[in-house]
Amino acid sequence: MADSNPPERTADLKERLGAVRARLDAACRAAGRDPHEVSLLAVTKTVPAPDVADLIDLGLTGFAENRAQEAATKVAEVTALRPGADLRWHFVGGLQRNKVRAVLPWVTCIESVDSPRLARAIDKEVAKARDRGERSGPLPVLVQYSVDGDPERGGVPDDGLDELTDLVRDLPGLELAGLMAVAPLDREPERAFAEIAEAARRVRERHPGATELSAGMSADLEVAVDHGSTVVRVGTALVGERRIASE
Ligand SMILES: *Cc1c(COP(=O)(O)O)cnc(C)c1O
Repeated sequence: MADSNPPERTADLKERLGAVRARLDAACRAAGRDPHEVSLLAVTKTVPAPDVADLIDLGLTGFAENRAQEAATKVAEVTALRPGADLRWHFVGGLQRNKVRAVLPWVTCIESVDSPRLARAIDKEVAKARDRGERSGPLPVLVQYSVDGDPERGGVPDDGLDELTDLVRDLPGLELAGLMAVAPLDREPERAFAEIAEAARRVRERHPGATELSAGMSADLEVAVDHGSTVVRVGTALVGERRIASE
């Protein structure tokens, strides 16, 4: 793997990041929100490490990955390229319980907690990591909410939301930071994000500390910001079409 990008690619990333930041600022202004309330996570799945290094040089500090194996390799590569960079790495994909252990060494937030079984598996691995002296304190997580209950996309359906957030609150290894959702493509965005916002409100009422709402991607970040999103996860608008073949 080359350690750095050709200058054209770096310039391309700079332009794309500028455009995404401008969209975010405009969306915040339109919604009457302070731009500091909304953080930008770069979704770097299938993107090589030198792109991530460029984005760090351009001032980004938050990144998200959706495959345990690819992410572990990339985080190690990025750490070698930019040692000492203070970064946040979120996990945003479907997570099998047997992959939790591989994710824990690098992850700062798991956004895709969508079942009691997964929550308990993470809690157990956090306890083990603590016993080995590898970490202290609970892991911040978001509960992933399913707007339409479609099991393909992941997320806990509406009727399981309260039970899951209560469980996460009660597990000592997890810290409930808020809610995450992916808007279904077949639904009118305005309506989908209104439903997501309503679920986030419910969670916050029950758990006042769970203030984060991770919602909005390249195509719909404006609607998401208008509905109270505090984290947008942007892939293609920042990095273009995927470049590493998916496994
Ligand atoms: C890929 C992905 C994104 C980014 O999507 P884009 O449309 O490329 O911005 C956001 N969230 C999740 C969970 C993803 O898997």
